[in-house]
Amino acid sequence: MTARVLDGTKIRDEIFAELKSEIAALGGQGIRPGLAAVLVGDNPASQLYVKSKIAACEQLGLASRMHTPLVSSTTEYMLQLVADLNADDAVDGILIQLPLPPQVDAKRVLEAVDPAKDVDGFHPVNLGRLVTGRPGLVACTPAGCMEILRRNGITIEGANAVVLGRSDIVGKPMALLLMHANATVTICHSKTRELPEVVRRADIVVAAMGRAGYVKADWLRPGAVVIDVGTNKVTDAREAESLLRNFPARLAKFREKGAVLVGDVHPDAVNTAGALTPVPGGVGPMTITMLMSNTVKAARLRRGRVARTVPSGAR
Ligand code: NAP
Repeated sequence: MTARVLDGTKIRDEIFAELKSEIAALGGQGIRPGLAAVLVGDNPASQLYVKSKIAACEQLGLASRMHTPLVSSTTEYMLQLVADLNADDAVDGILIQLPLPPQVDAKRVLEAVDPAKDVDGFHPVNLGRLVTGRPGLVACTPAGCMEILRRNGITIEGANAVVLGRSDIVGKPMALLLMHANATVTICHSKTRELPEVVRRADIVVAAMGRAGYVKADWLRPGAVVIDVGTNKVTDAREAESLLRNFPARLAKFREKGAVLVGDVHPDAVNTAGALTPVPGGVGPMTITMLMSNTVKAARLRRGRVARTVPSGAR
């Protein structure tokens, strides 16, 4: 069996097309949704993430601006910046790129963001809304995983879903979203016993552990749906040779570049799963997509008077 590929890039394009019409409708009311990104310091990975978020805003015609406080900024400075952005009516979404420097109290800063502008969905108020099944802004990566499942017509109701990982930004909200969609959810973590047995019972597996190729192909029930959130950069030649021994083209690319992105699920799973998100090109593109979607949603909820144009159940 070769798994059906759950293509995140294709779904991103679909959602971008929907967002463009929502943005045009808001434009008709004189509203241009806007995202403010806050990038502290010069971490190259963070710079790259923020750049691609700003580029996505530009592609969709959203207003965007970037604030770049010095790496030596204090918690008080950051709190004042967040207060200014909270008070600015042109700003619908506030994105604080993590990690923040160690002297900054990241929790305090994130909790200072107005929940109505919390497009990352990290604020305890939005997490609380998610727990209680009330509408709010949902963390982008798990929201993107749900879009992948729904838009591929995968049955969630009644399914046994296993979520590997219990972080606040991926595992926990993912498990809640699946539960609200009527799956029977098991949450696994580093202390879970007999993980392969637990995974084998799953119709839907969501892997968000940060361990390259950890979930082996023979842990999966044949035909299971696999959402692989992991994005692990493998640079060790022996590890890459072992993970990609059945994928000569990817291995050749690794040898050329010295690095390869591998998910938390072993690449051989493509021969056991019924459907699977590729890495890269699966969950990755959905995270920025849902950030854009949340920014438009935040503008609509805070300032808009138009009804949404997307089908019910989606986003
Ligand atoms: P995290 O905060 O490090 O959490 C990892 C979770 O995995 C923890 O709950 C941990 O358990 C669990 N875990 C670790 N080793 C395990 C093991 N051997 N068996 C079972 N569970 C284990 O990571 P995260 O922020 O949730 O991210 C997870 C992965 O998703 C990373 O690879 C990250 O790069 C990726 N990610 C991708 C995107 C995207 O856009 N594609 C977005 C976000 C994250 P404990 O709680 O017991 O420690």
